[in-house]
Amino acid sequence: MFDSHCHLTDLEDPQGAIIDAQKAGVGSMLTCGHSLASNRAELSLRDRVPGLSIALGLHPWNADEDVEVALDLIERHQPAVVGEIGLDLWGEVPIQPLARQLYVLEAQLHLARKLNLAVTLHSRKAIEPLLGALRNHPGVRGALHAWSGSYEQLRPFLDLGMYLGIGGAVTRSRAKRLQRVAAAAPLDRILLETDSPAIGMDIAEPPHVRPAHVTRVAEAVAKLRAMDVAELEARTDENAARLFGERVLARPRVTQGDP
Ligand SMILES: [Zn+2]
Repeated sequence: MFDSHCHLTDLEDPQGAIIDAQKAGVGSMLTCGHSLASNRAELSLRDRVPGLSIALGLHPWNADEDVEVALDLIERHQPAVVGEIGLDLWGEVPIQPLARQLYVLEAQLHLARKLNLAVTLHSRKAIEPLLGALRNHPGVRGALHAWSGSYEQLRPFLDLGMYLGIGGAVTRSRAKRLQRVAAAAPLDRILLETDSPAIGMDIAEPPHVRPAHVTRVAEAVAKLRAMDVAELEARTDENAARLFGERVLARPRVTQGDP
């Protein structure tokens, strides 16, 4: 199966995490940059791990960095996906001014459409401005990663063709709203993810969350939907291939003796 959103270069041992994931039946993953430094780290990891699918982009928390440099990295290095990008308006004062976040997001949405790449989106307390930005770039396809809103809030994104990334939070017994979304969302729009190492779950807390743990997310979502877990894994892998391209399901090859 496939982990549709993780951050391997934020882990101490990215290659070890890939090997552990593959042992657990997670053949491949999408690993996402978020700052200029982490984008360069993802590129360097891809050089060492043939077949690894990476996403490059500036996260809203890092919207003060030079977006022109990020756009140039994306254009020159052909990632599988553009991301992690998005909007974050959590807190009394957003971590970056909304106008700057929107400028950085829209520049990357524009490039994603030009390069015909999907995007992986971060959204926190930003439903309306994010919808507005996406409507300014019709034809951009992508996934809302680690969705935490209600199904009503999700509906306009589904209408735009967006996919839904369900992460480890769904395994928490108190996550009733997310569990209702996971049970009700259209099966052909669901992706599974860990956001490792950032988001905790019932069996692991940051910074110990790994792509291998996406199997636990699959178990939890399959149970909520009363379906067979192997069937759910197959269908969500198909969704990932349809959205991001077939090559994301190719197994990255970690060379033995290259820790
Ligand atoms: Zn992330």
